[in-house]
Amino acid sequence: MNSHQPPVIEIRDLHKSYGELEVLKGVSLTAHRGDVISLIGSSGSGKSTLLRCANLLEDSQSGEILFKGEAVHWKGHALHRRPGDARQVLRIRTNLSMVFQQFNLWAHMSILQNVMEAPMTVLGKSREEIEPKARAYLDKVGIGDKADAWPAQLSGGQQQRAAIARALAMEPEALLFDEPTSALDPELEQEVVKVIKALAAEGRTMIIVTHDMRMAHDVSDHVVFLHQGRIEEQGPPEELFGNPQSDRLRGFLSATT
Ligand code: ADP
Ligand code: MG
Repeated sequence: MNSHQPPVIEIRDLHKSYGELEVLKGVSLTAHRGDVISLIGSSGSGKSTLLRCANLLEDSQSGEILFKGEAVHWKGHALHRRPGDARQVLRIRTNLSMVFQQFNLWAHMSILQNVMEAPMTVLGKSREEIEPKARAYLDKVGIGDKADAWPAQLSGGQQQRAAIARALAMEPEALLFDEPTSALDPELEQEVVKVIKALAAEGRTMIIVTHDMRMAHDVSDHVVFLHQGRIEEQGPPEELFGNPQSDRLRGFLSATT
């Protein structure tokens, strides 16, 4: 980690409401290059909202979001209202690639096409350039032999690995995972956990929302426990899981494990 580089993502005192409902009540989070951060907490605590705000799928009411030191959120301004904002939003979204619980593969495209689509249409890469890379990413996640299959022909674990290959093909600065293993049967879950562990080992910057405390323990540099839109407790996994301080975290951990 180079301390002279600004963090890949920095969120400062973020507040986000849906109408009257305040979902994030001043959340701050910093991910330096190579950091793996897990976000844990009960359903409805604001984990997905925080990821969606980071990747600008949601606007927020106040606070700051910085991408590599560049401010990307302005109080009270919808991002697209300012000149140049659309391009900035696109650049940031392509650099913070999301992987969702439900994979969201395009059903009418082959696995290979799924991986090549955004690099070609969003980044303007040629098929000649992207196809060998797309195949290499499919190999990396262990489904190189499924390139010509349709999504429906794959198991859930294979589909999620295809979705990870698709996110990697954007060559993002960071990967944001929202419950990547929640829709999977336990044995398929482990295929995906293995891929996420390999990505962590190669130094990728990742923020992972997960209910899988074992994975969070094994892959994270830092774990953040959200409770009702606030960070209740955070720290290195050994401390957070080994010696939880707050009653809420203790209660949460005893309910989930
Ligand atoms: P988590 O991912 O931790 O389960 P979410 O971030 O999805 O939590 O949701 C936090 C809260 O925000 C919940 O009360 C949820 O019902 C509410 N919420 C999420 N998305 C929306 C939305 N688009 N409109 C209104 N309320 C929402
Ligand atoms: Mg969620």
